[in-house]
Amino acid sequence: MDGRRRPARALTVTVPASAPAITGSCLCGGVRYEAGPPVGPMGHCHCQTCRKAHGAAFSTTMRVAREGFRWTCGEDRLGSFESSPGKRRSFCRNCGSHLVAAWDHEDQLILRVGCIDGDPGVRPVAHIWTSQKAPWYEIGEDLPCLAEGRPPSP
Ligand SMILES: [Zn+2]
Ligand SMILES: [Zn+2]
Repeated sequence: MDGRRRPARALTVTVPASAPAITGSCLCGGVRYEAGPPVGPMGHCHCQTCRKAHGAAFSTTMRVAREGFRWTCGEDRLGSFESSPGKRRSFCRNCGSHLVAAWDHEDQLILRVGCIDGDPGVRPVAHIWTSQKAPWYEIGEDLPCLAEGRPPSP
């Protein structure tokens, strides 16, 4: 790990005072949610389960509190998949968009940032689980890379 690529200030969460409420929706628009401000940094997750779930090189994720999160439409259209013991990924059964993942024992939800509508006001600060990165994808951004795990919380 190259220390010069890990500016400490980049790993803190700074939510602008004027940050709007976060809203998100699935591809078909049948499922919608509202969430409070981020409680952890935004990061790009390269773990194999994220890659498979999203059919993508990585999934950009961000934590919010369970309290303050609510489905505003289409909760009955949700399916879920337990991708690791105790971790559930929730998706729209109509269009397949993954919206949220959560560990059963945690009071936070992990938003799949690609389904957020508008600008949540924060930016990615790290790549995580790069030990499971797709061999065909080269990380070009100057962000810290963590072999495993989540970006450190402030
Ligand atoms: Zn949908
Ligand atoms: Zn992941």
